[in-house]
Amino acid sequence: MTVTTVERADILGGLIDAEQDRFRESHPRSAEAWQQGKRHFLYGGPSHWMRRWAGGFPIYVDEASGAHIRDIDGRDYVDFCLGDTGGMCGHAPEAVTDAALRQFRRGTTTMLPTEDSLWVGAELSRRFGPRHWTLTTSATDANRAAIRIARMITGRPKVLVFSGCYHGGVEEAHVEIRNGRVGMRNMIHPNGIDHDAVTRVVEFNDVAALEAALAHDDVACVLTEPLMTNFGMIPVDAEFHHTLRDLTRRAGTMLVIDETHTLSCGPGGYTQANRLQPDIFVTGKAIAGGIPAGVFGLGQEIAERLWKIVPYVNPRERQSAHLGFGGTLAGNALTIATMRAVLEKVLTPVNYQHMIATATRLASETRGLIETNRLPWHVTQIGARAEIMFMPHPPRSGADVIAGRQPDLETLLHAFYMNEGILVTPFHTMLLMCPATSARDVERHTAVFAQFIDLLRQSGV
Ligand code: PMP
Repeated sequence: MTVTTVERADILGGLIDAEQDRFRESHPRSAEAWQQGKRHFLYGGPSHWMRRWAGGFPIYVDEASGAHIRDIDGRDYVDFCLGDTGGMCGHAPEAVTDAALRQFRRGTTTMLPTEDSLWVGAELSRRFGPRHWTLTTSATDANRAAIRIARMITGRPKVLVFSGCYHGGVEEAHVEIRNGRVGMRNMIHPNGIDHDAVTRVVEFNDVAALEAALAHDDVACVLTEPLMTNFGMIPVDAEFHHTLRDLTRRAGTMLVIDETHTLSCGPGGYTQANRLQPDIFVTGKAIAGGIPAGVFGLGQEIAERLWKIVPYVNPRERQSAHLGFGGTLAGNALTIATMRAVLEKVLTPVNYQHMIATATRLASETRGLIETNRLPWHVTQIGARAEIMFMPHPPRSGADVIAGRQPDLETLLHAFYMNEGILVTPFHTMLLMCPATSARDVERHTAVFAQFIDLLRQSGV
């Protein structure tokens, strides 16, 4: 029996209602806490991101450990969201916890370096390539700093981003192409900024559009993830990075690679695994094991050009040259201590091997179910990260995602997952592994995904 589009939407709407009812009934304490939270927080929780869960409200966390979360209703979840990557080290990893406690007792923030920072700087260079690093308090801040440096050095106004991107609260990256036009993404307010003056946006993997956009000689930098992870996973075409580097070099445009998420590809991110050559490398989130942090690194030539504009300060001069980006707590002793623990003991090659093998198994079992049931869906897996999308083939661009996405099916899956003890990133169906994610966790996901397919079959969609 085939159903019409309208019937299908009705059925899915009914299923979502049923899952949300089930969620409310089985999470009475979180439901009550959410009502209380709304009394004091602008969007219910301490961060507005916490409101976006498909059950209708968030679970309140009692404790998080390894790859699991226990909520205040006493329910256990396999956590494949991992704080949207901030928790990629796993929750409360021993090495990070020990380092944090040790440093807490010795002082957290002094606006002075500790000796641990010397190890961290050298390790960042060894892993990711660039020689000169700066810490920030978030990946957003690292991207903002990278953009500012690119503008200072090139003297150009514009930032080129790919439609469907997300780079944090970066004004220039809040745009997308919709119906052939450039507009604000997700109804984000333009904030008084003339985006036409500061931004160019093209579709990912679109070489001709990229070349045309760079031809105006007004683009300071291209800001991109190595592959897109924030609009469903969009894999990158085989030759795209080679062409991107070539075109940006020829255009005198700097290339900023944001590895805030793709740090999940391996110990040196996608950049090292694929020998990319960014002018500025950015990462964040998991890099300090859950303590807020971002980093950006640049090579010798770019650093020398920057020092000409903003020199090392002479303490005898009263007016010091200001870089225009900050973060008083950036690079503090606590962040440095936990970052060292992450790089030395948690995000190690051995742990990456395990994380990637676990993601490979999850992707393969999920694909198996999709194929057996002849569903027009696919799974993308790159490194320790997998994505299930309700379209037959991986998208090549943001436009493909807009055309193929099935938001009601996604909402239903997410609500169903939450009821069955699985957490994934709420914005799309992305599953991330941490060193503690086990074979049993993958088996649980496979079983729940099979149940979800049964639910759809029984409901006639
Ligand atoms: N870059 C990328 C690729 C991201 O996915 C995000 C957050 N999802 C950020 C930057 C911003 O990170 P933060 O919110 O920690 O500043």
